[in-house]
Amino acid sequence: MSNEFKYFTYEEFNCQETGNNAMSIAFIHRLDELREKCGFPFTITSGYRDRTHSVEAKKKKVGQHVLGIAADIAVADGNQKYVIIKNAMEMGFGGIGVANTFIHVDDRKSVPVVWSY
Ligand SMILES: [Zn+2]
Repeated sequence: MSNEFKYFTYEEFNCQETGNNAMSIAFIHRLDELREKCGFPFTITSGYRDRTHSVEAKKKKVGQHVLGIAADIAVADGNQKYVIIKNAMEMGFGGIGVANTFIHVDDRKSVPVVWSY
């Protein structure tokens, strides 16, 4: 699978604390499709995270960012949240987290969930 994307560079998903990157290429292709459907620019505020990342180190279970199948997308307003959530659900993203300033999407294999922060 190509690591050329329409809307993203692979480096945008580097761990912000270590610079490492083990993001799933397939997942970024799905984000490309989500971005296309949404029709507005995405700023990725968090992509891949090493297990040692300060957020992940506190968790008992390995998080979706550590698995390379999660991203946080900055949002400017409630309409952007709505559009991302609608399209992410239609595309079958199994994890959707709704924060004030971003939407988390992931491709978890377990039962689908939505949460707020
Ligand atoms: Zn996240």
